[in-house]
Amino acid sequence: MNKGRLIVFSAPSGCGKGTMLAEILKDNSFRCSVSTTTREPRKGEIDGVHYYFISKEEFQRRIANDEFMEYAEYCQNSYGTLKSEVDQYLESGINVILEIEVQGAMKMREIRPDALFVFIAPPSVDELRRRLNKRGTETPEIIEQRIEAAVNELKFMPKYDYIIVNDALEDAVSDFFAVIRSEQLTVSAQAEFIEEVIKNA
Ligand code: 5GP
Repeated sequence: MNKGRLIVFSAPSGCGKGTMLAEILKDNSFRCSVSTTTREPRKGEIDGVHYYFISKEEFQRRIANDEFMEYAEYCQNSYGTLKSEVDQYLESGINVILEIEVQGAMKMREIRPDALFVFIAPPSVDELRRRLNKRGTETPEIIEQRIEAAVNELKFMPKYDYIIVNDALEDAVSDFFAVIRSEQLTVSAQAEFIEEVIKNA
């Protein structure tokens, strides 16, 4: 069986990554790793589904225990990917998506260069601001912090493999599947097939 592909998926808040991921995950060959965070759950967020919500002390304990593949600070909270959320699924042929911010993504570039790095961008910073205000889940102060963080994150776009602009959801999702398909068609992804065909020629 072919192994799954590890996909690092970054998008500043307000880029619509939640709705994009919900569409992508309708395809059962994809799974989103559930991250661990010290931030408070938002209304409607479920522990173990959206995140594992833990205390700052517990987060430190897990760092000491070497349980994270990567972790980073974002807007005064810690976020991390547990090793247990990744490799066992890749082994069973599932494509695992890490929905993480840019610092974590850059760490992943070093430790997992085999991963595919996809950045979801807003059509413009004005549009991002409009979407964050409309969401209404954060205070104006937090929204400003997140816009500042987003502008900073956009500077990392050149370090990714693909940029998908999320203007219309349907187009962005179909662009994502086009990226995955073209990656499956590369020579390196088809090494086993090439060997098999030549061996049996
Ligand atoms: P939010 O608080 O909006 O859910 O997430 C804030 C930021 O943290 C987002 O950019 C999200 O991609 C990122 N994030 C979520 N989980 C992780 C993780 O496990 N590691 C890292 N590095 N970033 C994460």
